[in-house]
Amino acid sequence: MRIGVTGLSGRMGRLVAEEVAASGANRPEAATPEALAQASDVIIDFTHAAAVLRHAAACMQANCAWVLGTTGLDAAGQAAVAQAATRICVVQAANFSPGVNLVMALAERLARALPAAEYDAEILEMHHRQKVDAPSGTALALGQAVAAGRGVALAAVAQSGRDGHTGPRPEGAIGFAALRGGQVVGEHSLLFASATEHIALQHRAFDRRVFARGALRAALWTNNRPAGLYSMMDVLGIER
Ligand code: NAD
Repeated sequence: MRIGVTGLSGRMGRLVAEEVAASGANRPEAATPEALAQASDVIIDFTHAAAVLRHAAACMQANCAWVLGTTGLDAAGQAAVAQAATRICVVQAANFSPGVNLVMALAERLARALPAAEYDAEILEMHHRQKVDAPSGTALALGQAVAAGRGVALAAVAQSGRDGHTGPRPEGAIGFAALRGGQVVGEHSLLFASATEHIALQHRAFDRRVFARGALRAALWTNNRPAGLYSMMDVLGIER
């Protein structure tokens, strides 16, 4: 398979290129994303939200599959991903680590079982000081999993960046808090807090290679896969 990699100068792009080389797959190089997509069967993309519209168009034009790890997309960026997925195979994941995807599946099951009126859901994440978006894409995906388990829309119940006189916690809210500092690769915890017990799920990534390997696995999985928007859960065969 010909696996193109964008953002080669970035923390993730560099590691992905190493993993592609170690897998023995061919990695074409090109000066533009359009030329890279033409030369590739699939592109692994960890860049910046500002690049999403161009990369979506390039992959669609070239009929090239797209493994997208970039986070912090706005509504227009997400719409471009959905549009691309009508024509090509797209695997989009806020986190390509197998462990986090298992945590998300568990989060949804717990949220389904624990009444929102009794169990307050709070998500805490910490990342390195260079990270540009908050809450992290993974924290938001965990929030989506909790919201799905509760049968509500995350946007209607999300509460982030509490500061000042916030008033009491609204029933059913899903809270987010973000810490930034040092070189933390990625830490997430989800807490369900009731008056009588706490249940916590925690994930810590020590090495970005876990995301690079997951993305490579997703890229290999796209081979001969029909157009559609897939997740890492699909790649791993995790049932929700
Ligand atoms: P980085 O800043 O180290 O690298 C970003 C790369 O994107 C660089 O090569 C840069 O040149 C390129 N870039 C920046 N703006 C661009 C633009 N407008 N057009 C094209 N290329 C552009 O960042 P990173 O730590 O490698 O993370 C990259 C992205 O991947 C972020 O959105 C991050 O949140 C996300 N990420 C996702 C996962 C996951 O598992 N899904 C894991 C880690 C990081």
